[in-house]
Amino acid sequence: MDDISGALKRDLGRRLGNDAIVEDYAERFRAARDCWSAGLWWDRERAARHAPAAVVRPVNLEGLCRILFWADSQGIALVPRGGGSGVCGAAVPKDGESIVVETTALKKIIRLETLGDSASVTVEAGMLGGDLEAAVNHQGYALMHVPASLDISTVGGWIAAGSYGQLSTLYGGIGDQIQSLQAVFPGGAVETAAPESLLLSEGGLGIISQATLRLRPKPEGHFFLSGEFENMEDPLALLKDLIRRGIRPEVARLYDPVEAKTSLSANRRSFLSDQLKLKLARLALGYPALLRRLQTNPWAAKRWLLVLIFEKSRHGDYLESRRLLEGMNIKIDEAPARLWLANRFQWNTGKVTALFEQGCFADSLDAWAPWKTLPELHRRLIESVSPRAAVMAHVSHADPEGACLYLLIAGRGKSRPESERLHQEVWRLAMETCVSAGARVNHHHGVGLAKREWRQHAYRPGWLSEFAQLKRWRDPKGIMNPGKVL
Ligand SMILES: Cc1cc2nc3c(=O)[nH]c(=O)nc-3n(C[C@H](O)[C@H](O)[C@H](O)COP(=O)(O)OP(=O)(O)OC[C@H]3O[C@@H](n4cnc5c(N)ncnc54)[C@H](O)[C@@H]3O)c2cc1C
Repeated sequence: MDDISGALKRDLGRRLGNDAIVEDYAERFRAARDCWSAGLWWDRERAARHAPAAVVRPVNLEGLCRILFWADSQGIALVPRGGGSGVCGAAVPKDGESIVVETTALKKIIRLETLGDSASVTVEAGMLGGDLEAAVNHQGYALMHVPASLDISTVGGWIAAGSYGQLSTLYGGIGDQIQSLQAVFPGGAVETAAPESLLLSEGGLGIISQATLRLRPKPEGHFFLSGEFENMEDPLALLKDLIRRGIRPEVARLYDPVEAKTSLSANRRSFLSDQLKLKLARLALGYPALLRRLQTNPWAAKRWLLVLIFEKSRHGDYLESRRLLEGMNIKIDEAPARLWLANRFQWNTGKVTALFEQGCFADSLDAWAPWKTLPELHRRLIESVSPRAAVMAHVSHADPEGACLYLLIAGRGKSRPESERLHQEVWRLAMETCVSAGARVNHHHGVGLAKREWRQHAYRPGWLSEFAQLKRWRDPKGIMNPGKVL
């Protein structure tokens, strides 16, 4: 493998000249994983099975075109990679025969167009979200797409994974922000593509090279609302009513009692060191049923928490939501919503890695379901998973027809191999529970390797066959990210 890689590297270096950087051995191992937590169990030998033959990083459009021309003529598989922040293994090479094309050197802002309150930015697709946000903020504008992974994910990765950000209740997903798109397809042709045609494509059609995204004026501030409820149904009905009447908070999230408590207590000042917290978490995760009993004991507060945040410009929406909440005879407070905004980027990959180093696992699942199915879906997921692992959930990304139920799971077996087996078992259980409840098993994380087995249940009806048709046209030799969507 080293020899082949060395020869390939020299050959690629000659062909691509100064248009791309060809990376070395250590980079190949880095590119064997993304943020899919299953990959954190892999030792060097297992990672080696997914280490690509080479990693190339084009520095301009010409370099990108040359890679796609060359790979197509040789029949060599390419795996596009942006920030590698995907959580489903979509950027993980299926095997060691592929070449990873990392886009992060394609990071120029090409144009910022402003016309009064409406503006757009045209940007190379490898630019990281945090850098782009900082650049447009400087000009008085802001992105309408802000995922929790803003600093570690790219514009191309957002589009290819069909990402949704924290402001989705007001602005929708990344698909709603794209004005135009440019991509390079096998053979090396650069084309303007229909905005929706590469959405959810997970690198399976071509490599997105440029996108024009809508911008909003940088918000002047926010209004905050939160309310506590005894059940899931009442706040869910309120949220559905708001959305269907066109009242749009920027952020709308409904936390189940366990996540409300855990997130809030995580935000409170604590005198415990991170190390001690980790040790306590490890201990607790070994006893999920007991942990659940403690979390839901008769004396524990069991309140669903609704968090609503409005842009200052939507004062009317705020007042109407406040009026409706006041009519529900519940405790209303601004503090949890303020805290939410202040801590919205606090969950990071370092915390997940630290848990795995302790022999525990953590994972997340994004299922979409119609409004009427959400309470039943939540109940069934908690019932099935909680005897085996700690579990909590929230509802987010509401749309007129339904919303995403976001499940967080964590657990530990008696040994590392046991923990890995339990992780797989709990993942399978959660996926099967979603399918049997009639939910779609993908809202914004994509499918990748993690959900491939369930991909018939991951898209709107008809999407997979439309994608297969596109694939035959755009990538007839099947060199683009094989073994993922198709
Ligand atoms: C802490 C954390 C928080 C997260 N929060 C969110 C969130 O709030 N919302 C959300 O939607 N997701 C979230 N994610 C998941 C992840 O950030 C998104 O899926 C993101 O869109 C991936 O972008 P990326 O650049 O890292 O892509 P990668 O992980 O590198 O790739 C993802 C997929 O896109 C393909 N791809 C990448 N670039 C291109 C390109 N230029 N052309 C064609 N295909 C390409 C890859 O082949 C792969 O299939 C989070 C992840 C983490 C670790």
